[in-house]
Amino acid sequence: AGQVDIRGGFKIFDDTIHQAAMRRLELEPALRQALENNQLIMHYQPIVSLENGKIKGYEALVRWQHPEKGIIMPDEFIRLAEETGLIIPLGAWVIHEVCRQVASWQKDKSRDNHLTISVNVSAHQFTEPAFLSVIQSALQKSGVQSTCISLELTETALINNSQQVTEVLDELRRIKVRTSLDDFGTGYCSLNYLHRYPFDTLKIDQSFVRHIDSNPRNQAIVNSTIELAHRLGMQVVAEGIETEAEVETLKQLNCEYGQGWFYGQPALS
Ligand code: C2E
Ligand code: MG
Ligand code: MG
Ligand code: MG
Repeated sequence: AGQVDIRGGFKIFDDTIHQAAMRRLELEPALRQALENNQLIMHYQPIVSLENGKIKGYEALVRWQHPEKGIIMPDEFIRLAEETGLIIPLGAWVIHEVCRQVASWQKDKSRDNHLTISVNVSAHQFTEPAFLSVIQSALQKSGVQSTCISLELTETALINNSQQVTEVLDELRRIKVRTSLDDFGTGYCSLNYLHRYPFDTLKIDQSFVRHIDSNPRNQAIVNSTIELAHRLGMQVVAEGIETEAEVETLKQLNCEYGQGWFYGQPALS
């Protein structure tokens, strides 16, 4: 907690805030360098049909391979990247890297080439002027079909600039890039976004999926969410599935796809 110092002032920085600030000061130039020195890597986590266990695609998740600190997870640096504007070059790198990877998978004829790869997109990235041209140049350069890519947006990405968001979503639809509403239910006004924007897929946040087999309240919420999504013509993916019991319950609720440690951890290609 803060302390009153001898001059009667108030130290607003307690130790943990101080440590967080120091870590950020240290991380920002390091993240800048990480982009230049190719220290970012993508992991891919399968998205699976609950009915037959077949893989329908992967979600691409960024990691920072720090030379001394080891692997740093996105929750530790995406916020920083957003606040410093680094998310723009970082996000562009992610899209190019994912398209490159998809093209290389597709050259391998022994693989299933009808997979959809999901890419997370930050709010700042989505509404920056060059966003659509980044997408189009990554698709062109790699030769990957637009229908193989799904962009995952969270509700926070949609709060501001509704006019601009609508325009970008319309253009994505026109060029047949798919879209997913990520972490559904954790945002400020989820239903409002469903009604305003036409997403292809709705991803139910893992907080509702965890222990769904033994939690009737989560069952009720997820049940209605799935029904609503289907009525709106969307597919549903349940995030963070860790147990078979969760799978069984989700199947009973007509959820068609799932993702989580039960099916596979995010891993290198
Ligand atoms: P998200 O998009 O909701 O991704 C799902 C997160 O849940 C991932 O965390 C994944 O590793 C984790 N997860 C998957 N299955 C399970 C499970 O069964 N149990 C548990 N406890 N967790 C599971 P991760 O990789 O740490 O990513 C965290 C968040 O960082 C992502 O949440 C996404 O919002 C953001 N992020 C990741 N990669 C990128 C990126 O390339 N660009 C942007 N802008 N954001 C990214
Ligand atoms: Mg996601
Ligand atoms: Mg999510
Ligand atoms: Mg999340």
